[in-house]
Amino acid sequence: MELILTKRMKIKDAHTLKVYQKHQGYQALKKALGMKPEEIIEHVKRAKLNGRGGAGFPAGTKWGFVPRVSDKPKYLCVNADESEPGTFKDRAIMELDPHLLIEGIIITCYAIGIHQAYIYIRGEFVFPAQRVQGAVDEAYQAGLLGRDILKSGFDLELTLHIGAGAYICGEETALLESLEGRPGKPRLKPPFPATVGLFQGPTLVNNVETLANVPAIVEHGGQWFADLGTSENGGTKLYALSGHVNKPGLYELPMGTPLRVLIEIHGGGILDGRELKAVIPGGSSTPVLTAADIDVNLDFKSLLKVGSLLGSAGVIVIAEPTCMVWVLSKLTGFYAHESCGQCTPCREGTGWVNKIVRRIEAGQGQSDDLDLLEHICANMTGTAICPLAEACAMPVTSIIRKFRSEFEEHIKQRRCPYTSDARADQK
Ligand code: SF4
Repeated sequence: MELILTKRMKIKDAHTLKVYQKHQGYQALKKALGMKPEEIIEHVKRAKLNGRGGAGFPAGTKWGFVPRVSDKPKYLCVNADESEPGTFKDRAIMELDPHLLIEGIIITCYAIGIHQAYIYIRGEFVFPAQRVQGAVDEAYQAGLLGRDILKSGFDLELTLHIGAGAYICGEETALLESLEGRPGKPRLKPPFPATVGLFQGPTLVNNVETLANVPAIVEHGGQWFADLGTSENGGTKLYALSGHVNKPGLYELPMGTPLRVLIEIHGGGILDGRELKAVIPGGSSTPVLTAADIDVNLDFKSLLKVGSLLGSAGVIVIAEPTCMVWVLSKLTGFYAHESCGQCTPCREGTGWVNKIVRRIEAGQGQSDDLDLLEHICANMTGTAICPLAEACAMPVTSIIRKFRSEFEEHIKQRRCPYTSDARADQK
């Protein structure tokens, strides 16, 4: 299979400019600078490149929202704030092939007429930030960034900005607030960043993996990229596989690879020959699947059809006899901690939900707790500024619906029914 994003990752020193160029690096940029900007946008549209940050919005359409002519400077902000539990794909690109990202950034900026770009990276990513900064410095020294790139007349400044480690800064408007020096709290939309974004200028916010696909699209053409994927989502996809599998890791596979194939073939099956219990298919906020649901393809549309989401494609595998109440107490604790506090349904709701789940786990649940959780989650849906409230509500409702008897047993027995061995394995 054609590899786009991971093909250089096992080559020694692939993060350096010398090795990147030795393996066709920056050839796509040279080609792009000889093309008309509209031609590049057309290729990205034809490629059916859906944004890889989680929402899956078509990248070419998003690019088209940024006005060609603007009296304010335009910006590209690269969302490298990869914080969704279970997701570790952008980190690998930045650590092992940072010039691929930089090449994608330069081509994108050229296509949209942007002269200032920022990479917003999460604070905990110390090593990836070092690698990216090293690559940015090399690119400046080689005339690939700055003024008159490769004597094309095109100028681009690229700045790496390190965040302070807040999950919510992965939401595009919170990212912009943080970049402007304020607390990372999401903005009300509209206006959308494409028209009023960073420093009030038109701004494109794209994820690392999305931009890393752009050089291959320019090099081989949009149709070539589209043909690698499904009829609606082009290209390959990075799947971050973690949890109870024999071979957890990062896998670049065709978009739409069956979940069963990812777990059983690439992941080597379930750890210690245990039974599969559940799968969270797209990062911790996506609705859970049971073992009976895994004959589904890992693409945006197929997962939607079975009531879940591809999200960031962070696939978390959960084997028997893991306690799903324990799983939910960990997940809700994360969202309660990460709520920025602006909206009452999210600020209060995430905390209430976590408190109730923890008391069920501790054997102090009450008979109406499950209905209460459903009621709170209904009030957290569609009532807040950004998707974080729903990111907490979705796993709560799906885990309770699919594993209700486990919650009822905790309440009835007034303790966790799992053995101490199984609980020790969860830690
Ligand atoms: Fe903040 Fe939560 Fe409201 Fe998002 S939904 S803006 S995280 S309080």
